[in-house]
Amino acid sequence: MTPIVSKLPNTGTTIFTVLSALANKVGAINLSQGFPDFDTSPILIDLVNKAMLSGKNQYAPMAGVLALREQIAIKTKKLYGSNYNPETEITVTAGGTQAIFTAIAALINQNDEVIIFEPAYDCYAPAIRLAGGIVKSLELEPPDYKIPWDMVKKLANSKTRMIILNSPHNPTATILQKQDIEELSALVRNQEILILSDEVYEHLIFDNQIHHSMASYPELQQKSIIVSSFGKTLHATGWKAGYCIGPEYLMNEFRKVHQFLVFSVNTPMQYAIAEYLKDENTYLGLSNFFQEKRDYFREGMTQTRFELLSSAGTYFQMATYQKITDESDYDFAIRLTKEKGVAAIPVSSFYSKGTDHHVLRFCFAKQKETLEKALEKLIKV
Ligand code: GLN
Repeated sequence: MTPIVSKLPNTGTTIFTVLSALANKVGAINLSQGFPDFDTSPILIDLVNKAMLSGKNQYAPMAGVLALREQIAIKTKKLYGSNYNPETEITVTAGGTQAIFTAIAALINQNDEVIIFEPAYDCYAPAIRLAGGIVKSLELEPPDYKIPWDMVKKLANSKTRMIILNSPHNPTATILQKQDIEELSALVRNQEILILSDEVYEHLIFDNQIHHSMASYPELQQKSIIVSSFGKTLHATGWKAGYCIGPEYLMNEFRKVHQFLVFSVNTPMQYAIAEYLKDENTYLGLSNFFQEKRDYFREGMTQTRFELLSSAGTYFQMATYQKITDESDYDFAIRLTKEKGVAAIPVSSFYSKGTDHHVLRFCFAKQKETLEKALEKLIKV
């Protein structure tokens, strides 16, 4: 064997893959990896078929099919009030993760510091390290996982190049509030700090709260690359389609990497999504749709010994389990899957130090029957 120096020596297989594989193997109900167990709209599938049958099967333009970029511009203007030029400020990506990786690869230089908040989605830190950047993480704590802005201020310095935000937040299901936006604005004002804003769950916000997109605040918008995901918006995680928007000076750099990483994204899906998004109800209805599932799941969980944290957005519900066991969250998640037949994600996996607050993340993007069956099992735990 030729010796290699691993670029990510401490990285294993993602927890999502581990738990989903285990759930499949033992036949457990899979509330671990976040994906719907119901299908995307037949209308959308029909539109993809039509695109394929009408010969839309060769490379899309590098930045994405223009009709789709135009729809993204319209949606962003309507929801957040800001203008993005489809020609120069919007790029269609192979999902949110690719957009995040590309943004970091394009904008982070050797020894640049990047602030992230843990629990953090697991792709941020490896992408920063591969780019030669330095991860500066701050831990958030249950039950409310509020960003400690005074500590952020202390951490930020002249080497800080980027801060990664994620709202609605995976895994905690919290959302940024107006006050966070004010703190963030004060932090980056007159500083050379860029914002990478992971907004892949932008349309899944509950209880009539609003999504504070970076695109809503001109001062922040100018410094932000914003990432969204059609996987979440269209119940089609397997299509690996998403996009990113940002001011031209950032998007220029983004596209330099994008063109050599994926070049372009599959064509027929883009034509289909462009057509489908013309009906705004396709995304405006998502909050109600998922809130119903959240409420059903939460109601059922009150009959278990789990204790629920709040869920303001995303399709995740966090729960603690002090009344059940003092096992580590990882051990408990594995045992829950194998012995009790329900898979969930141990939240310690989202902390670089493995910090274990004894919290599991459940995905409720499931059919009512699936949730019902899972609840029947969880009640017995
Ligand atoms: N975003 C999904 C989740 O949080 C996982 C996606 C993946 O497995 N890479 O569960």
